Amino acid sequence: MIPVAFDYERATSVDDAIAKLAGGGKALAGGHSIVPLMKLRLSEPGKLVDISKIPGLSGIREVHGQIEIGATTTHSEIAGSEQLRAACPMIAEAASEIGDPQVRNRGTIGGSIAHADPAADFPAVMLALEADILIKGMNGPRTVKAADFFRGFYDVDLHTGEIITAIRFAPVRSAAYAKLHQRASHYAIVGAAVALELAGGTIQRARIGLTGATSCAIRLPAVETALVGKSAADAGAAVQQASVEAIDLNADLHASAEYRQAMIPVFVRRAVERAINRGV
Ligand SMILES: Cc1cc2nc3c(=O)[nH]c(=O)nc-3n(C[C@H](O)[C@H](O)[C@H](O)COP(=O)(O)OP(=O)(O)OC[C@H]3O[C@@H](n4cnc5c(N)ncnc54)[C@H](O)[C@@H]3O)c2cc1C
Repeated sequence: MIPVAFDYERATSVDDAIAKLAGGGKALAGGHSIVPLMKLRLSEPGKLVDISKIPGLSGIREVHGQIEIGATTTHSEIAGSEQLRAACPMIAEAASEIGDPQVRNRGTIGGSIAHADPAADFPAVMLALEADILIKGMNGPRTVKAADFFRGFYDVDLHTGEIITAIRFAPVRSAAYAKLHQRASHYAIVGAAVALELAGGTIQRARIGLTGATSCAIRLPAVETALVGKSAADAGAAVQQASVEAIDLNADLHASAEYRQAMIPVFVRRAVERAINRGV
């Protein structure tokens, strides 16, 4: 289908983008979520403000021991980053499993997080890393914790006219992402992001982000608690026992709620095992 008519403007800086969005409209980054929605006429913004060429809005850098990824950094750049593969392989791993090469070459981390598709990969990773989402709007900058950012079905803590400028997190080496993907799109039917703190092969703390299974990405606190004190040998059983948490699971043409329920422990366990191996 053809979208309704819209204006297009290219922003030259973050402040320019914010000024251009003040009168309404939506940011355009990779266009791999907003353009399909517009073509289906599920979204009809009167104006698109292209932020994809803003100098300094993309890139991966270290800031005071943390890693900061600019909002317009593409999935390919994240997947191919040697810095991330060494310091925080989970995020590069998740990026490498998004869609296909065309999607990874155009799609951005800021766009993925702002769009917050319930089956998108990065929201789970953001939760497991307890990332900060850096946002700027007419009222200046603010920072939102990932746990507060993802509020519900395509619902995030982003006000009209605000843009995400970057994501920031403390890198974790003992972390991994495992997903059961939908064969055509590669979106997650179930995706588990697991970040562990280990001491002598024993789990001291676990943070688990789950995507694809519920209306938005969530943490799994009961499984996280069950993993504390466990070694690689008994982590699998702990995951299996703890994953009967009362969560409202999605059912759609890709998988029933029962199937997702069965797959959650499988993919959490795979991510836990890989995370433990990376930490050793
Ligand atoms: C065929 C196909 C397969 C895909 N498979 C996967 C998959 O396996 N896993 C997965 O996670 N995703 C998948 N995606 C989605 C893909 O990752 C998108 O690129 C991503 O969700 C959106 O990023 P974008 O840069 O393209 O954003 P856009 O489409 O440009 O924007 C999406 C939304 O976010 C807003 N936005 C964009 N950037 C910002 C910003 N910096 N600040 C505030 N708002 C912003 C826009 O206004 C818009 O509302 C797939 C997409 C396609 C088309």
